[in-house]
Amino acid sequence: MNAIYLQSPGEIKVQQVPNVDRRENEVLIKVRSLGICGSDIGAYMGTNPLVSYPRIIGHEVAGEVIEVSADETELVVGDHVVLEPYVYCGKCYPCQNGRTNCCENLTVLGVHIDGAMSEYFSHPRHLVHKVPADIPWNLLAMVEPLTISMHAVKRSRVKKGEHVVITGSGPIGLLAAQYALTLEAIPIVVDPVEERLAFAKKLGVKHTINPVAADAVAEIKNITNGRMAEVIIEASGNAAAIRSSIDYVSYSGRTSLVGWPKSEISLPTALFTKKELDIVGSRNSFHSFPESVKLIAENRVDVAAVITKTISFEEVPGLVSDIAKQPGDYLKVVALL
Ligand SMILES: [Zn+2]
Ligand SMILES: [Zn+2]
Repeated sequence: MNAIYLQSPGEIKVQQVPNVDRRENEVLIKVRSLGICGSDIGAYMGTNPLVSYPRIIGHEVAGEVIEVSADETELVVGDHVVLEPYVYCGKCYPCQNGRTNCCENLTVLGVHIDGAMSEYFSHPRHLVHKVPADIPWNLLAMVEPLTISMHAVKRSRVKKGEHVVITGSGPIGLLAAQYALTLEAIPIVVDPVEERLAFAKKLGVKHTINPVAADAVAEIKNITNGRMAEVIIEASGNAAAIRSSIDYVSYSGRTSLVGWPKSEISLPTALFTKKELDIVGSRNSFHSFPESVKLIAENRVDVAAVITKTISFEEVPGLVSDIAKQPGDYLKVVALL
């Protein structure tokens, strides 16, 4: 079968690899759609220290069931499914407490182990979710990214009517803004790229701020009647944005950090105490796949809007190198097989 193969950083191609067989307690699928993620680009560029090479990338996957185990009671051949790509150990402290998304021994597809950018893939049964057959394949590739955004919003316990500042308007930030809207919260998207802000407006976000062109603190103060934002979703990983988020958040506010900074950042922690902030990390997602599928099926989150381009499997290597060169040109790129 063909796979998207990273020989080493910068060297990506479609490569023939041995056919995959179904392993015990797993489901074999024919892959039908794939999303290209920032972490795939990081693997290509060699900037993700967790990735080892050679490596098949890809973790945003939907496909059709080809083979199940003899004792399977729910899934049948031909079912449409999405894969939850975080393979956890079930034994460590977070796993024992149900926080499998931050398992100490987590292996993520395309990072620690081979990913699913291949024609066929075998995946643990408990991480395979059946989905309605009438959802288009390209939208199913968005189920996983939407769960990341949902998790960040859930970690900060967003409630109806609250202001949610979202720093960073990549796919995760834009999906978080849309998810906040489904909760009847008030998203405020902060990003220095005007085109992205205009795009956020098209998705129904009323308030957007360019922190380079405007005084973001003053604007947020104005929008929130002086309170500042009850919640921050930091989705950029940018050091300046992370620092500013402490000024954007209200006293007793909550901050969810979902963006990955590239290096250590120094912060005025006295402000955490002074404002009595709840600052939480948000990694991967947890128990969110069924809800994500439902939001997409009911068209309550417009994931199609976040797809910049739909391509063929053979075009993936070229697109990965294009995205690495011009990341600002793309939100999500999805491949159909
Ligand atoms: Zn991803
Ligand atoms: Zn674990």
